[in-house]
This record gives sequence, C-alpha cells and structure tokens, in this order.
Amino acid sequence: DDIASSGADYVHLDVMDGSFVPEITFGAKFIKDIRPHTDLVFDVHLMIDRPERCIQSFLDAGAGIITVHAESTPHAWRAMMMAREGGAEAGIAINPGTPVSAIEPLLDIADYVLVMTVNPGWGGQRFIPECLKKVEILNALRENSGYSYLIEVDGGLSLQNVRLAYQKGADVIVSGSSFFKEDDKSLFIQRMTEEALS
Ligand code: ZN
Repeated sequence: DDIASSGADYVHLDVMDGSFVPEITFGAKFIKDIRPHTDLVFDVHLMIDRPERCIQSFLDAGAGIITVHAESTPHAWRAMMMAREGGAEAGIAINPGTPVSAIEPLLDIADYVLVMTVNPGWGGQRFIPECLKKVEILNALRENSGYSYLIEVDGGLSLQNVRLAYQKGADVIVSGSSFFKEDDKSLFIQRMTEEALS
C-alpha cells in the first residue's frame, strides 16, 4: 500500500539466489502472491544464475518487465527474447565491473538497460559515481544509433546523486533502502523527482 500510494511508477523487485549474489530474497511464488495487491508494473530484476531457466515462472507470476544480468548467463539474448515473447518487456543489467561494450549486441532487443551503481547483493552500499560514465555512453549510443531502451540506475541512489544520474541520461531511478527508510514515501518520491529535474 505504501508503495502504491507513494507516486512510484514501478515496483522494482530484486530476486537474489544466493549464488549469483550472496543474498537470497524471494522467487516467483512471492511475486505471484503480491501481484493482486497493486496495479503498478512489476519490474523484476533477476540477480540469479542462468535466468533463462525460469523466465516462464516470472511471466506467470505477473512480471511486466524482466531484467537479466549480462554476467549471469551465456544466453542473455535467449532469456530476453523469452521475456518479450511472453508479453513482458526485457531488460539487460550490468554490474559496476562490466563495460557497455559487453552488451552492445543486446541493445537492439532491450527495452531497458539497467546500470548497477553498487555491486548487488550487499545492502546499504555506497553509490559508485564512475558507473554514471556508462549511463552517458548508453545515452549517446541511444541518440546516435536509434535504440529505444530506457536507462535505469539501481543502487545507492539518493537525494544527493539523483540529479547527476538524470543529467547523464538515466530515465528510471531505482530507490531501495532510501525509499523504505522514509516515513512519508510520497513526499520522498516528490523530492527525488524535483531534485532530478532541478
Ligand atoms: Zn534491482
């Protein structure tokens, strides 16, 4: 309820498997269970090894966007196509140590490119500003090559750095711990939006 009434555009769900990242969170079953509670789009971020094995489960659970990590599988293309063929949008994510060049062949079929600004799986980490260079590169590629993906940034985003991310070309800002820390969530979304556009 808190999320739905806050003015957020998506519910971003971090699925972690304890292998690709150290933490374990939840899976398709949990997502299916919470699906009836909101009309917001479920943006499912799969931080799991070999995500192509379970795309169908997340489609069935009601994912609107399914994002897989470039580092998690040799079959990212296939996983993204499975998401698209199943009626969802497809995203490709890169960790701080992965260059944009690693996903260039996938940009054509990407609805979203998710740039991690921390290493996923360890909560409360500090934002890595160097990652915004990749946002800049992706933004330039999009302008020059006619790609249509949206650029999403995820990890350590706050009122202090949201404007910079937005200026470099980010379209979607994922806010985890700083969102949940706030008592007044709609005020927080409003302040993040104002800060981004200022
Ligand atoms: Zn995420």
